[in-house]
Amino acid sequence: MISSLAFTFHVATPTRSAHGWTRGMPPPVHHLHQPHPQHHPTPRFAFSPRATVSEPAPSAPPADVPGISEEDESLTVAAYIRPDPNETYSSSTSSSSPSTRESLDALVSQLDAQDYTDSTGGNRTRDNVLKSCQASTVAVHGGERIRGVKKTKAILDAIQVPIVQSSTYTFRSTRDCIDYNRGMYSSFEYGRYGNPTTRAVEEKIAALERTDDCLLSSSGMNSVTTMLLALVPEGGHIVTTTDCYRRTRQFVSVLLPKMGITCTVLDPADLDGLRDVMQRRSVSLYFSESPTNPMLRVVDVPSIVNLCKEHGALSVFDTTFATPINFRPMDYGADLVLHSATKYMAGHQDVMAGALAGKAALVDKVRQLHGVLGGVVDPQAAFLINRGLKTLSLRMKAHNRNGEAITQFLNSHPKIEKVNHPMLSTHQDHEVAMKLFTKGFGGMLSFELKGDGNPWSVETFEAVGRFIDNLKIPYIGPSLGGCETIIEQVCIMGYFDQPLHERRRLGITNGLVRLSCGIEESEDLIDDLEAALRYA
Ligand SMILES: *Cc1c(COP(=O)(O)O)cnc(C)c1O
Repeated sequence: MISSLAFTFHVATPTRSAHGWTRGMPPPVHHLHQPHPQHHPTPRFAFSPRATVSEPAPSAPPADVPGISEEDESLTVAAYIRPDPNETYSSSTSSSSPSTRESLDALVSQLDAQDYTDSTGGNRTRDNVLKSCQASTVAVHGGERIRGVKKTKAILDAIQVPIVQSSTYTFRSTRDCIDYNRGMYSSFEYGRYGNPTTRAVEEKIAALERTDDCLLSSSGMNSVTTMLLALVPEGGHIVTTTDCYRRTRQFVSVLLPKMGITCTVLDPADLDGLRDVMQRRSVSLYFSESPTNPMLRVVDVPSIVNLCKEHGALSVFDTTFATPINFRPMDYGADLVLHSATKYMAGHQDVMAGALAGKAALVDKVRQLHGVLGGVVDPQAAFLINRGLKTLSLRMKAHNRNGEAITQFLNSHPKIEKVNHPMLSTHQDHEVAMKLFTKGFGGMLSFELKGDGNPWSVETFEAVGRFIDNLKIPYIGPSLGGCETIIEQVCIMGYFDQPLHERRRLGITNGLVRLSCGIEESEDLIDDLEAALRYA
């Protein structure tokens, strides 16, 4: 039922881009106001939204309308359309036509100005027609089309964003189709280009990041890959950091080279190295997590952003671990911020999604390619993310609290060699983190169990297993950012098939443990850790 709202939500789909018109659509409005010199100003058809089916349809073009020149292959459908005399919009409306960034609130308020009645008018209303239809037809169409403002308002008054479980958005008339393609009427058109439930989440995330726009997609990896493919030109060069989400590294090192895209990998703190690369070659894009996984490195976003701006490179930060509650790269002039919304944003380990937020023109560009690659998030998932986001701030307070309390506990425990958490003055990036993370450092940490003192020994490997298996509260598993505390021995969770020399290079020892603190009470978690450490 809710799918019919598509008629009244004036939200544009990614039909137009900075590079022109996509998906074979007719050209933008300005063509219409510059009639081809060869053409008679009178078009073939006059469209009236109030035309009834009983009116005689024009059987042939009027004789005084010259034919469209056969030589002009560039002509589009727009050449056939006569401007509606009742049109109030002018060519200048194209710049103020509905954009994907228009807020749903503003769009919905427009509804009040419109009172949709059955557009075909007369006695032959849809209700009347349905009255004389067979049950099979009524079963399909009865009660489905909510067009009146009153009925629509009742749905829009729902306290929750409705799940608009619809792949397709229909048009009421041919005129609407034409207006849509001319940018004068908006529709989501098709689920790959947008969805009202998803749009609500995008607006919420853009607002949380204090930036222009956001694109939600089917997973964090989908956001990463679509963003890189959209923004890095063929043969381009990118810079990433050593401590990086494994699949991102895989994409950058295995897939991008096929497009001639190369990469420099730097230590997260290596600003001199970054300056050097920027001076030596043209860098298209810098991409780093902050904090990183699993070493919780924090990059100096303001300095990196400045370097990037100086050299014309885009700066993108994956702040999945921080969330906009703890840190917003956009505040420091970054171009884009990326999240695995699967983690803290959704926050309940029940849904997968990615979010890319930032400057409008860049998000638009990625949205265009997203419409082609098709990594669409499901509306049900979008609903769950919206629900999760409502408690993001509350949850992050608990994650921050547990992250700090457990770090302190582990840091002074005799069986722990080292804790990786930016709150510790021993952490490489402590100073940068103190400057940027004023709200909290998050609930992620990793640490080295001592074992027999050799981080690569079998004894240390087994000590970690005994410790983890004796925990009663945390779950053993990958992923992070949920309400439940999750623990993993890093070398067997994501690096099982990695050769030792590769693990040595990345610092993934046998004793390394990653902990995603949930929102339980700190004391309960610490008691459990203390008890289990006796077995290590
Ligand atoms: C999980 C994660 C990703 C990948 O996100 P998915 O939603 O699992 O595809 C990317 N970056 C970071 C930092 C992550 O933790």
